Parts: sequence; C-alpha cells; structure tokens
Amino acid sequence: MQSTYLDALNEQQRSAVAHGIPAPEGGAGPLLIIAGAGSGKTNTLAHRVAHLLVNGADPRRILLMTFSRRAASEMAIRVERICRKVLGNEASTLTDALTWAGTFHGIGARILREYAYEIGLDPDFTIHDREDSADLMNLVRHQLGLSKLESRFPTKATCLAIYSRVVNAECPLKDALQSSFPWCSNWESQLKELFAGYVEAKQAQNVLDYDDLLLYWAHAVTDPHLAGAIGGRFDHVLVDEYQDTNRLQSTILTAMKPEGIGLTVVGDDAQSIYSFRAATIRNILDFPKQFDPPADVVTLDRNYRSTQPILTAANGVIGLARERFTKNLWSERASEARPMLVGVRDEADQARYVAEQVLAARETGTTLKQQAVLFRASNHSGPLEIELTRRNIPFVKFGGLKFLDAAHVKDLLATLRFAQNPRDKVAGFRLLQLLPGIGPQTAGKILDTSAADPEPLISLAEMPPPPRCGEEWSAFTRMLMELRSMSLGWPGEIARAREWYEPHLGRIHEDAETRLADLLQLEQIAGGYPSRERFLTELTLDPPDATSDQAGVPLRDEDYLILSTIHSAKGQEWTSVFVLNCVDGCIPSDLGVGTTDEIDEERRLLYVAMTRAKDSLHIITPQRFFTHGQNAQGDRHVYAARSRFIPAMLLQYFEKVSWPLATAGEAQAGQGERQKRIDVGARMRGLWR
Ligand code: ATP
Ligand code: MG
Repeated sequence: MQSTYLDALNEQQRSAVAHGIPAPEGGAGPLLIIAGAGSGKTNTLAHRVAHLLVNGADPRRILLMTFSRRAASEMAIRVERICRKVLGNEASTLTDALTWAGTFHGIGARILREYAYEIGLDPDFTIHDREDSADLMNLVRHQLGLSKLESRFPTKATCLAIYSRVVNAECPLKDALQSSFPWCSNWESQLKELFAGYVEAKQAQNVLDYDDLLLYWAHAVTDPHLAGAIGGRFDHVLVDEYQDTNRLQSTILTAMKPEGIGLTVVGDDAQSIYSFRAATIRNILDFPKQFDPPADVVTLDRNYRSTQPILTAANGVIGLARERFTKNLWSERASEARPMLVGVRDEADQARYVAEQVLAARETGTTLKQQAVLFRASNHSGPLEIELTRRNIPFVKFGGLKFLDAAHVKDLLATLRFAQNPRDKVAGFRLLQLLPGIGPQTAGKILDTSAADPEPLISLAEMPPPPRCGEEWSAFTRMLMELRSMSLGWPGEIARAREWYEPHLGRIHEDAETRLADLLQLEQIAGGYPSRERFLTELTLDPPDATSDQAGVPLRDEDYLILSTIHSAKGQEWTSVFVLNCVDGCIPSDLGVGTTDEIDEERRLLYVAMTRAKDSLHIITPQRFFTHGQNAQGDRHVYAARSRFIPAMLLQYFEKVSWPLATAGEAQAGQGERQKRIDVGARMRGLWR
C-alpha cells in the first residue's frame, strides 16, 4: 500500500527514506544524506517524514529544522501531499500535529520559553533582532566610555559581528579576532570588557539576542537532566541544509541525541555559503564519525531540477574550486539551450534586459512566479527595481529590506515588546522618545528608575509625568497597563497599541496615512498568530519580505517576479533564473577576496545561484557597475571584468551574447531614448564584447 510514493523515488532516495523503518531495537541509527544541488535531498527528507508518519510515528515527537520558516511550511505541505496518497483525509490530522517544524532559532526560542524556569530565564523574555542588539551594544559602549576612546574603535555593528562569531564558532576572542577581524586585534581587552557589559545588560533587561537562542539552548542541554528531557521529547530529529549550521548547532544536536538515534541530517558541502555566520563545512563532513557505529551515509548524484547544459556549466564552475567536491551531477533533462552569458554596458541595460526577457517569457507561458532574479548583495537590485516599477511588473524581494525595518512598524512592535518585558531598554528608549519633551537622557533615567522596581510598569504609571508631557504620559502608561493586564486578548492588544501610537505617527511623519496602512496590515498579519509572544518571536526571527507594494507583505495571490539575494535563494528552484552583476567585485564580492577560503565561498555562491535554474539561466555581466561605498573610494562607477569564476576555459558551456546589439549610429547616441529597439531574440546571437 505504501508503494505509491516510494515508487516515485530512485533507489538511493528510497533507501534514505526507509532507513530504520520499522525501527530496529534501540531505534534507527544516525543518517547523513550528502548530495549535490537539485538531487532531491529536501524531497527525500519530506518523504522520510511522511514515511515515518505512515508507519505510526507520533507527529508531535518529530522535530524538523529547516533554513527558513518558509521552507518549513513548504515542507509541511509536501509531507501532507505524500501522506494523503496513502492515508487520505486522515493525513491532515497527522500533519497538523507536526508542530515542531521551523528554523533552529525559532525552535530554540520555543524550547527556551518552555524550559525558562529550569534554565533560570524569565519566560517573558523578549528577543532582539540584529539592529536592536547593535543598539544595545552601543548603549553599553557609551556607558563604559569606550566610544570616546578613539574614533577607530570598531563600530557597533562590527562589535556585534565579533561577539557573534565568538559565540557561534565557540572560539576564544583572540582567535576570532585573528582569523576574521585582524584590524580589531588591538582592542581585545576593551572588547572583552564591552562583551561582559553587553551580556550583563541583556540579563538585567531580560532580553535575548539571536545568538542567545542557540547559546542558552546549548547550555541547557549540557545539563544531563535537561538534555534528556529536551532530547527525549523527540523520537526523530531531521535537519535540512546541514552544511550551513555552525559548531553551536552541532553541539546542540549531539547533546540532544548523543547516540544519533533518530537523527537525520541532509546537506551539500558544495553549497556551504554561511561561513560569515560561523557555519562550518566540518559539521557535515565530520557527522558520520561523530557516532559509534558511524552514521549511515547516502549520496545522490542524479539531478532532477536542471537541464544538462545548465548542470554542465555549474559543474564546470564548482569543478575549479580548490576543495574537491566529489559529486558530479548528471541530469536526464536534455536540452539544446546552453545557459546565456549576457554582456551589457551597465546596470541600466542589465535592468532593461531582465525586464524584457521576463515579459517575453511570460508571453510564452512562464509566469512571473516561475522566474527569479538573483544577486550577491541586496543593493544590487536597485536599478532593476526602478525599471520593474516603471513597467508595472510586480515583484517581491527576498533577503532585502524588511517590512519590519520601517520605523513606524518598529515603533508598534516595540510597544508590544515593552508591555511584555518592561525591562527591555532598547524598546523602552524607542517608545519614550516618541513622547514630547523626552530625550535620550531623560529616557535613560526613567528606564533606570522603573527597572529597579519589581513592577516596572506600575512604577512608570506612578511616576510624576516629565515636564511638557502630562497628557501623553498618562495615555502612554494607561495603554501599557492595559496591554499588561492581558484583558484585551490577542490580536486586540495590537489594535490598542496602534490606537495609542496613531497621534504620534501623525506628529512624526508626513506620510502618516501610508504608514498607518502598513500598521493595519501588520494587524492583519498578527491575527494569524495565536499569541502576542508567538507573533513577536516569529516575526523577529523570520520577518516578511518587502515587495514592490512599498513596504507591504507579499501579495500572495498575484503573479509576481522574485528578486532575491543568492543567500536567500537557498533550496529553491525556478524555471528561469537571472544572475545579476556576474563580474569581479560583485561575484566574488570585493569584500570576499581576502583569503582562498573566502574566494571559494564566493564560488560556491555562484554555484548555488546557477543550480536554482530548471530550464533557462541568464548570467549577466555589465561592463560598468556602481559600487556603494564599500571601498575606500566610496560610491562610484567602476569598470568590471567578467567574474573570475567563469574563465575562458568554461566559455564553451555558455551561449555568449551581447545586449543590446547596437548599430554604429545607436552606439554613438549612447544613453539616448531606446524605446524602439529591435526584437530582443534576434539580437541574442550578437557578438560578445
Ligand atoms: P538543493 O540542493 O537545491 O536544496 P535538493 O537536493 O534539496 O536541492 P529538491 O529541491 O528536493 O533537491 O529537488 C529538486 C527537484 O527535483 C524538485 O523539483 C523535486 O520535486 C525533483 N525531484 C526530486 N527527486 C525526484 C524524483 N525521484 N523523481 C522526480 N523528481 C524528483
Ligand atoms: Mg534542498
């Protein structure tokens, strides 16, 4: 009866899906699926979860960790579809109970809240995103007088990056400085002092940053009792994209499942692209020998995603890496069309090229959603966004500016956060300074006084209002007390917070109406969450992306083009893919050419980008591009050469075109009006440079 879905898999995939089912005595041993892009790793993982469920596993005891929340919900949909084939309608009851699916950080937050008491945390803790964390770091820096030392003391963002590396790579500060931040080495003792102050501040304020979610979790599972309790509540732990986990994450997994029983990890070493967040390829390479007996390893080499010419080109790129990746993928999807290597003059042409190609493909039946434009850095899509907007082509941008980065959205969220945790100073600062007559100094004093009280909100309510702020003060404290009392219910609380905030919005911003629309949209999103605390946690950890509709949330039902950083495109696939700015300075990035390791990571990034394409791939190389102040010269145009990752020896794998193929007269006219260009397709076979 179960053969229906297993039959659709190849032999290696099937063996991974069925590994240890039914479980031998003592449970199924650890399993590693290590395989190239598009070989069906994620699909196999989904089948494995479904197969577990069909064979009687308890969905509440399955922990599934993916790279993003989106990936987790897509996985749940796939699992349900597979289960449905065997179980019919009963499938949804099972998959609905698959509640422990999410990102490492999201799962960490839930576990910490549940075990807060045992870990010594207040369960009302709030979570700081990177920006809040940097603000708190800055606050501590000022308090310690470190910012006054010399102007060359690392910026708040760099301080946070160093701190984060030390935590995630589980390495001493000295080593982190030497290997990744050599220019900050002189500041070691000051940084130590700063980090100690930062940790203290977080504890006093009952806030956790991203890294803490892993760090506290890792600490919790070093206690044998807690490790047993947390690890023991899951029979199966499955992790996708394992190549991008860091030491801390591997420590957590092994502490939860010391024998590896029920543990399945999946990944591709050739796609490891997160070493800047301390991810290490060693995790996946060393996984089998961590256990005794070692983990079973399944490799997959057939790619089901891309046509052979796309794969040949991608294999060519990764084949030149210093590190040898053993897999050479093959595909049965034959095609005549080689990937395009498109030379354009500048980013404006690049944008026009993409817009025209995208529309042409839509004419022939490829929807916008089946097409994606990928780029190395979020700001590379600027000219394209302008061009798309001009032509009314809707798009959604992943990995770029987040909806939540807008000041008014942050203000509203800070209100909810402060009501939940009135010791959260970053949130408190933000709010108090919205009130008339309150500057940073007064805000600091008020927060220090209230935080010293066992009931900070009551202390605030009973405080004499600061000068020039009578009415507003009592409106503020009344609102907080109402939120604190929980009498409004969820999402009523967010509506109450918005009502309070509206007059301030009008005072601070000229475009208050548009911003108010955003807030109403946020309220709608909030309605989809069971509680204030889940809403705040999940939104902070995995915020919605910005769209062409200003800072709105993705318009789910409409057709729209995907714009994404390569990092955020992980694990996904589209019929047609465009890679922007494939030139030295962008890919590899100017910032990523310090060491051979860094260069190899940039190469893997291009490999990830190329392997997202199913049928059609366009790699674009502008002759000139604009740099955004990343180097000493600041913002400027630079002339660029084709990326070093596509050297002459690989050109045979590409169809080289130059666009637009200008006549001598047109070329002279330069940047003139170009509306009447001839048919794009006909120009494709032009000369290359
Ligand atoms: P990535 O490395 O990019 O994360 P992956 O190895 O996880 O890729 P999937 O996303 O699982 O690969 O699968 C790639 C594509 O191949 C999907 O469209 C999937 O449905 C399809 N696929 C996987 N296995 C099979 C199979 N046995 N038969 C047909 N199609 C398959
Ligand atoms: Mg995958």
